[in-house]
Formats: sequence, structure tokens, C-alpha cells
Amino acid sequence: MTRLPDPSVRPAGLADQFGRVARDLRVSVTDRCNLRCTYCMPAEGLPWMPRAEMLTDEEMLRIIGLFVRDGITQVRLTGGEPLLRRSLVDLVAGIAALEPRPKIAMTTNGVGLERVAHRLKDAGLDRVNVSLDTIDSQTFTRLTRRDRLADVEAGLKAAADAGLTPVKVNAVAMRGINDESVADVLAWCLERGYELRFIEQMPLDAQHAWDRSDMITADEIRERLSRRWELTPLPAADRGSAPAERFLVDGGPETVGIIASVSAPFCAACDRTRLTADGQVRNCLFSTTETDLRGPLREGATDDELLALMRGEMWRKRRGHGIGDPDFVQPDRPMSAIGG
Ligand code: SAM
Repeated sequence: MTRLPDPSVRPAGLADQFGRVARDLRVSVTDRCNLRCTYCMPAEGLPWMPRAEMLTDEEMLRIIGLFVRDGITQVRLTGGEPLLRRSLVDLVAGIAALEPRPKIAMTTNGVGLERVAHRLKDAGLDRVNVSLDTIDSQTFTRLTRRDRLADVEAGLKAAADAGLTPVKVNAVAMRGINDESVADVLAWCLERGYELRFIEQMPLDAQHAWDRSDMITADEIRERLSRRWELTPLPAADRGSAPAERFLVDGGPETVGIIASVSAPFCAACDRTRLTADGQVRNCLFSTTETDLRGPLREGATDDELLALMRGEMWRKRRGHGIGDPDFVQPDRPMSAIGG
């Protein structure tokens, strides 16, 4: 039986009541996006955050710096679409200058990455994950409501050329849309040396249309891939806090990952925390509450006061995300405004 720490004895740092400690900070640098993926956003987009509510680079760097001081070792930039933040290269450079320097990663749709991949690498970005659900151009256009597959392909290639490696590709499998072609995406990634991970679709769409019975499960993805390749699971002990169960493909060395966020949640090993573009700390993707840092920061809060707020938010982290519980409530913020 796992022994839980005594909740009356609160340790320093970004710990919660279940013995987890945050090491991985996801920063949403903007809620805007240049694609309109049907499972994420309506065709007309969303009411974007007013600029005045968004953290400036200086504010963001101060908060990230405090997180790093308190034990964060990896910062992942996301959004919205992080490449839409004009100051992104400077922001990366600012994070790379923090002591101790965290690892810096980015999750992007890849549109426009071709132009900026080398500059991001020079500024200190270590790795990218590019989201790509299909390699069929018509399906891509239908799914994202934009004809930009060629841009994403160019972005991926530029990322590999710039040394933002290993280049990872994230794909969400959806019934009747791309579920029949998951093997084609893997074949495509294997040919190019990209590491593919499939992710189960989660209840985070702005339209609140997610339906569990319609979700393509991790087991289904594995079964479909197994028709073409032999998949050998890598030892669970190698997984740590990483969400993907990884498999050697035909004996390796190539691998494919499957993230069963809904059917086999990995909350017990979660080491993540999140900062939104408008300065809210969220201890979970599925939180229905958050802690405001922007207000106190703009009113002159000291570093220690901000740290106390960040730690308090982590301490309140629930044991699990609770999808499937009878009282589960989807967060008001859609994925694009939380940062995936
Ligand atoms: N724009 C960037 C991108 O496309 O990677 C970063 C933000 S996007 C919200 C991050 C990831 O979340 C993408 O891989 C996207 O496919 C995924 N995503 C969005 N809605 C999702 C959902 N309901 N369930 C699972 N993944 C989702």
C-alpha cells in the first residue's frame, strides 16, 4: 500500500497531499490559434483574451523563474499556438537564461515552424512536439479547417534540421475521421525518424461535445497498429512520470507511444503544473479552479507571496482528474486557453 504523507506536515516546494511534486511546467503563451481543429474550437474561433489580460514577457519570466527556483526542471511552451506569440524567441532566450537552466520544450501545430526553428534552437529551445493527426491532405483540411498540411511537414523537417530532437509527433485518433489511418501516420513518422505518440481524445473541447463511448481507446489504437507491426511494450519502470506507454516497433529501435489519458489515467505519477497566458496557475488540465498570479503580481506582490500562492495551488491538487466519476465537470476553459 502506498503511504501518503501526513497532510498536516506540508513540505517545501511544489508538493501536493498525495506525495507528488511538480517538476514540469506547461506555459500557455497565447490562447490564439491559426488552425480550427474541429475537436478543439468552433469554426469562428473563440473570444480571445484581451491583450491587457495577458502576461507580458517580463511578467511571464518572473513567474517561470519562481517556478524554476521552486523545483521545476522542464518548461514546455504551448497554447493556443505558441508560434503566434511574436516575442517567442526572446521568451525562450529568457527561460534559457534562468538558473538552474530548465529543459525547454514546445508543443506546436508546426505551421510557421519552418521560418523560426533555427532561431528557436539558437535561443535555447531543446525539443518540439508537433501535433499532426493525419497525413492525408483532404482529411487534414477537414479536421483543422485550414489547408496547411504542407506547412506542418515543412515545419517538422526544419525542426529536425535545426536539431530540436527527438522530434515528436502527437496525434489524436477520432472515430470516423482518422481512426482507419493511424497505421499510415506511424509508417510516415517511422520513415522520417519522428517519434509518434497517439493520445486519447479528452473532454476539453470548447463545444462540450466529447462523448466517451465515441472515443478511440488506447487498446483500439494498439490493436490497429498491431495489424501491421509487432509492438513490444517497453518496461513500465522506464516510464517514470511520462504519460505515454511506449512500444518497440518490430523489435526497435523505433518506438511508438500511446497515451491513455482517459482509459488508464496516469495521475498518480503526474508531475505537471500549468500557467495560463493570463497568469492563472492550474494544478491539473481538468481543474475547475485556478489561482490568480497576475493580479497580485501587478499589485506588487513579493516573490515569497507569489511562491506561497503557487505552492497553495499545488497543495490542493486532487488525487486524479476524475473523468468517469459521476460528478465530473468539464472545465470552463477549453484546451486552447489552458495549454495542452
Ligand atoms: N497549438 C499547439 C498544437 O497544436 O500542438 C498547442 C496547443 S494544442 C491545444 C495541444 C495539443 O492538444 C494538440 O496536440 C491537440 O491535438 C491536443 N488536443 C486538443 N484538444 C484535445 C482533446 N480534446 N483531447 C486530446 N487532445 C487534444
